[in-house]
Amino acid sequence: MKVLKFGGTSVGSANSILNLKNIVESQDFPVVVVVSALGGVTDLLIKTAKTASEGNEAYKDMFQSIVRRHHDMINDVITDGREDLLLETDALLAELSSIYHGVYLIRDLSPKTQATIVSYGERLSSRIVARLITDAELHDSRTFIKTERKHGRSLLDSELTRRLVVEEFGPKTLYGKIHIVPGFISSDRDSGEVTNLGRGGSDYTASIIAAALGAEALEIWTDVDGFMTADPRVIPTAYTINALSYVEAMELCNFGAKVIYPPTIYPVCVNNIPIYVKNTFNPLLPGTVIRNEIEDDRKPIKGISSISGTSLITVTGLSMVGVIGVNRRIFTALADNGISVFMVSQASSENSTSIGVRDEDAAAAVEVLDNEFAKEIEEGAMFPMHVESGLATVAIVGENMKHTPGIAGKLFGTLGRSGISVIACAQGASETNISFVVHGDYLRKSLNVIHDSFFLSEYKELNLFICGVGTVGGMLIEQIRSQQEKLMQTHRLKLNVVGIASSHKAVFSRAGIDLATYREQLDASPESSSERLRDGVVGMNIFNSVFVDCTASKEVAELYQTFLDNNISVVAANKVAASSSYETYRRLKSTALQRGVKYLFETNVGAGLPIIGTINDLVSS
Ligand code: ADP
Ligand code: ASP
Ligand code: MG
Repeated sequence: MKVLKFGGTSVGSANSILNLKNIVESQDFPVVVVVSALGGVTDLLIKTAKTASEGNEAYKDMFQSIVRRHHDMINDVITDGREDLLLETDALLAELSSIYHGVYLIRDLSPKTQATIVSYGERLSSRIVARLITDAELHDSRTFIKTERKHGRSLLDSELTRRLVVEEFGPKTLYGKIHIVPGFISSDRDSGEVTNLGRGGSDYTASIIAAALGAEALEIWTDVDGFMTADPRVIPTAYTINALSYVEAMELCNFGAKVIYPPTIYPVCVNNIPIYVKNTFNPLLPGTVIRNEIEDDRKPIKGISSISGTSLITVTGLSMVGVIGVNRRIFTALADNGISVFMVSQASSENSTSIGVRDEDAAAAVEVLDNEFAKEIEEGAMFPMHVESGLATVAIVGENMKHTPGIAGKLFGTLGRSGISVIACAQGASETNISFVVHGDYLRKSLNVIHDSFFLSEYKELNLFICGVGTVGGMLIEQIRSQQEKLMQTHRLKLNVVGIASSHKAVFSRAGIDLATYREQLDASPESSSERLRDGVVGMNIFNSVFVDCTASKEVAELYQTFLDNNISVVAANKVAASSSYETYRRLKSTALQRGVKYLFETNVGAGLPIIGTINDLVSS
């Protein structure tokens, strides 16, 4: 048998839910189908609850949009038994409406009430799916997915759950029917109250059932072609990975690859059940397989993932050196207070340990650690905790890293050349993951340069800012436009023009400006100035960027130093900077050298004949 899980986007629209029906009904095996709430409904349920708890009547309209989502879906996809289903749905929605009314009246939203409210998402969606699919039986996961309270959280009681799942779906009942299960929701083993497995938890529900029943496979059906080399919303050139080991998948998920909820991997991994990640909208594609033994594709890095909103807490003090037990105290104190740590970095001198936690846990973590070490801090042997928030943690993952020297060198070299400074880093001895912390503003750029350097070596991407659209600039843009395709094919060079400025206007586009219509775009854009231009170029903080100056402007030449300081190469047809004071010229050259970027001005001498290059070659030889 197989367990198939369909996420929110796979039950988000009439079209997607009909795809789900086709996929499920064409399976040969007996199947258990786990479904999420209709796409976006869980967020909406929570937002409506918050609005009601603030005593804001707007919650009523929000509730009505939840009602409409479900009514519309039923009217669009259900023909047989539609009236019955509408009655059942309305009964559940009436309960939900009363709960919201209560929250609105008492202006209070307890975690228990919130858990009850969000459970309606999956309870409603699973009914629709069960009615849509021929010969389906609906189950109530609250009766067999059981949680217990630990450290103030509801955590799975795995032993009890395993027993109950086997009872619910034992081999006798499994055959002959398609079983529909609402994902995400569960109930407390002691009080029976409704709980859940955490946001994204439907994946976990499916994995728990697959493990308990010894399924042949767990299939995660979602809205992308598989597990990808990076988050496709941030890296448009990310591509699908054919196969991952459990360890690689676990590392990528733990570090933010949202496509699978992290606890999902463990239950199927210990039972050696493969996971397939597939696209509901493109079911014929093979997707990604995750299993123990995968064919070695010799790639050292399989994927990159990241978590934003992270804080780094640094525990420092001279008394820590060589003292046994400081780390035990740090981690015990944090664990006792339910604070989870996802990265640790300790200098070998042992006088500082940095701990990565989520921003929302940072204040509590500092308080806990300051209390734990209060005596040492008072005696001056240790310093009060230091916290830096608004950071992001990035991980590069791949089991083949352990056989390949130079990966860390390449990684940090790439980051350095792009002007990204690394605040902390860690590599486990298993060598399957190197993680590092950067400032949150540098996350997108870090992901791009790493992806570019490790995955896209078949071509190099340059992001150009072109300033000046007169004879020289206009011709350059025209040449780029007509040669883009050829450069890509013959030189493996992708030129992406991300900014164009005239003397008083500027347009920027991270995705690339359409060079056929840039003049119209410039005309339609607001007035600019050299400060705005500088802020636009630096603020985009894009990787492999080059500023090309085709003006004769002194103000523009004065921006070069800032650009080079920000690791943006400068290519100037403009002669002002290179023919200014020798001091200024030297500073620009030495900044470029230090930063590992280029400052080029070949056309400044001899009307573009290669005179500077020739003289440089002569000097070198
Ligand atoms: P579902 O509703 O199916 O559970 P999710 O939104 O939870 O879907 O997860 C799928 C999304 O995860 C994708 O749409 C994609 O934007 C995002 N994502 C982040 N990292 C990755 C990655 N490495 N590979 C694939 N998708 C990723
Ligand atoms: N509906 C829940 C959520 O949005 C669970 C899930 O989709 O996996 O978090
Ligand atoms: Mg999900």
